[in-house]
Parts: sequence; structure tokens; C-alpha cells
Amino acid sequence: MFRKLDERAFLGFRVWDFSLRSLPHRYGGAFLREVICRHPLRTISGLLAYRRLVHGDCRRGEITYLFSEAEGDFQRRVAEGEGGFLVAVGFCQKPMGGVGRGDECPVGRFNHRCLYLAQLDLSCAEERSLPPACRDCEIRMIGVKALRAGADTHIMTSALDIAHDIFVPALERGRFRTAIFCVCPYSVHPITLPLLICGIEGFVVQFHSGYCADYSQWSLADKGIKDDRTFLSPEARRKILDFLDGVATLRAELGKPPCRRFQLEGNIYVPVF
Ligand code: SF4
Repeated sequence: MFRKLDERAFLGFRVWDFSLRSLPHRYGGAFLREVICRHPLRTISGLLAYRRLVHGDCRRGEITYLFSEAEGDFQRRVAEGEGGFLVAVGFCQKPMGGVGRGDECPVGRFNHRCLYLAQLDLSCAEERSLPPACRDCEIRMIGVKALRAGADTHIMTSALDIAHDIFVPALERGRFRTAIFCVCPYSVHPITLPLLICGIEGFVVQFHSGYCADYSQWSLADKGIKDDRTFLSPEARRKILDFLDGVATLRAELGKPPCRRFQLEGNIYVPVF
């Protein structure tokens, strides 16, 4: 029934199903208390921006654009910014083990960790030998480019952690201003609204396969129960990698020092020089 409200964009919103079902749960309560009640003016301005976005032309293919200027200008703004740029991928993008699936992520799936990114050091010319699971892992591919682009990198797990790791610091300290988020199609609107409330611009990129199709599946994945591995489409992945390459090039032209490795601060991999 709530999905029908979303399909009709009732009152200009497509987040009824997620919001009404989440309300009785920990994430819903935390979002209400820590975002909406504590930041009512930001919430109102985010809601207005969200309604404009629903009625506007902000989506191309699998990507929702949360900025209004030309992409090149946005990319330059990201490159010029001092920090505050976040790349957020899903734990469900990690490889799964099992018969016919190959090796599982060496640090397990439902957590914020990546062994490869933790050990990555761009100042070492020598290529390390990769654990088999890491070879075709999208988190590795995106994380390396994110480091070159000076972006914080986060592996998302539960909605509650996303609220505490991203939304609250963005609202209270201006911690993140621009971002790329990789989420399931069902989560595109539920993540877009809080990003607009937080004043975070960027891209929301939806997965192409293996994703959660409805609230029930999403709710299980939110607890780490996810029997499929999600993938971006080759086009969407290329888009993210090219954008990050462009930011890295612009940073070099601007004379910014290259980032060498990540340092884990809380649940965020933060680039250091
Ligand atoms: S690159 Fe992928 S498989 Fe390897 S440790 Fe990181 S998340 Fe796990």
C-alpha cells in the first residue's frame, strides 16, 4: 500500500514506504530525534529541495544528480574543496564465499573494513600481491581512485550507522559536503532526502544487479543478512572511476599534495599525505 504512495509521488515524496516502515525501528527513531527534531530548519529546506528534485530532471540512467551546475564545474568544486568529499560503497559489494562463488572478503562482509584499503600505500611503487577475493572487488577499484581524489571512503552497513557516521557529523560539523553514494534502487530516495537535508551534493548511483528490491529484503540486509553480491553496471562504475580520476587530475593541477594512504577514523577511511 505504501509503495503505491511512492509510485504516485504522493505530496511530492517517494519515501513513504521506507519512512513509514522504518518509523518503529531504531533507525527511524534515531533519524527523527537526531536529524529532524535537532535540525528542523535544515529538514524543511531539505524537504523543499527534495520535492524540487522529484519533479525535476535529476536522473540519467542509474545515476541521480544532486547538484545543479555543469558537471565539470561541480568536479572542480570537489577538487578545490579541502576534505569533505565522501565516497560511500555498500558492504554488499564485497565478494561472498561459498560453492561456485570463489573467496569471501578476507575481513568478512557485514562491517566497515577493507583489508586492501587499510594496507594501501600509493608511495610504494611495488604492486602487492592481491588476495584472490580482492581482484575483481568494486570496493578496491573505487577505493584506490577515491584515495587519489582525496576522498574519504566509507563502507556502509546499517542505516543506523549511516546516520551516525555520515548524517549527524555532516549536520553538526559540516563534515561532508560532496559525495558519491552506491545504493540499491529501493534506497535511492531514502538516501537522497537525508543527503539534501545535510546539504550534501553529488551522485547517488544505483546498483545494477544483486540488489534489495523491497523493504523486507532491505531490512534483512540492514542486519547483515544478504545472500547476493551487488554490482554496479559497467557504465555506472566507469562513470564513478572517471569522475574520481578527473578530481585527482584537477587536484594535481591545483598543486595539492597527493594522498598516499588511508587512516581509519571511526568507520571512515580518511586520506593522509
Ligand atoms: S578489496 Fe574487497 S574483498 Fe578485498 S578486503 Fe577490500 S572489501 Fe574485502
